[in-house]
Amino acid sequence: MFEQEREELVLTLRKRGIKSEKVLNAFLKVERHNFVPEIMWFNAYKDVALPIGQGQTISQPYTVAYMTEALDPKPGQKILEIGTGSGFQAALLSEMGARVFTIERQFDLYNQTLKLFDKLGYKIAARCSDGTIGWSEFAPYDGIIVTAGGPTIPENLKKQLAIGGKLVIPVGDKNSQTMNILTKISESQFAVKESPYFAFVPLIGKEGWKEK
Ligand code: SAM
Repeated sequence: MFEQEREELVLTLRKRGIKSEKVLNAFLKVERHNFVPEIMWFNAYKDVALPIGQGQTISQPYTVAYMTEALDPKPGQKILEIGTGSGFQAALLSEMGARVFTIERQFDLYNQTLKLFDKLGYKIAARCSDGTIGWSEFAPYDGIIVTAGGPTIPENLKKQLAIGGKLVIPVGDKNSQTMNILTKISESQFAVKESPYFAFVPLIGKEGWKEK
C-alpha cells in the first residue's frame, strides 16, 4: 500500500539534499501512514508535519531524514530517542538495524505507540518519563536523538553518550531552533556543528522548558 507515494517522498528527500542511501531505504520500508490517524493517510507521504493528538506532531519527513543522516546509526548500535511521539523515527532507526530505546513523557501517546510497535512487530524498548534526564540503566549510547526543541543541551544526555557517539538535538527558543550535532571526543569535550533553522514542539522537563 502507498508504494508509489513512498518512492515519490524519497525522490523529494533526494532533491532536498538527503544523500544517505541507508536513510532513504528506511523511508521506503517504514510505512508512515501507520503512524498517523487514518483520517490523515492521504497526506502521510507529503513532506509535512502532521498532528498525532495530545497537541503533538509527527515531524516533517525532511527533518526526520536530516536528523537521521546526521546521527548515522550503524547496525547493532544502541540509540536513545527522546520524544517517541508517533513512533515513526524510532521505527526508522530500528529498520536501519539499531537497538532503539525511546522515551515519551505523555502517557497516552506512550501507551498508544507501544501498542503500535507491538502490532507492527518492532522490537523497541520504550518508557514513559522525562527524557531530559535520559535512561541511565542502558547508558552509554552510541547515539542520542532528541525530537523536541529545548532551551539548552541536557547535561544528562551528554553524560550518557559514549565517546565517539553523536547527539542530535534542536536548541533555541520556543519558535525556532538550530540543529546541534555534537560528537563526544572525551568525557568533557564535544565537537559541535550547528545548522539553521527548525521548528519543534517544546522539550518539557527538568533540563528542558518548564510546564505551564
Ligand atoms: N519522534 C516523534 C515521531 O517520530 O513522531 C516526534 C514527536 S514530537 C515532534 C516530540 C515528542 O516529544 C512529543 O510527543 C512530546 O510529548 C515529546 N516530549 C517533549 N518533551 C519530552 C521529554 N522531556 N521527554 C520525553 N518526551 C518529550
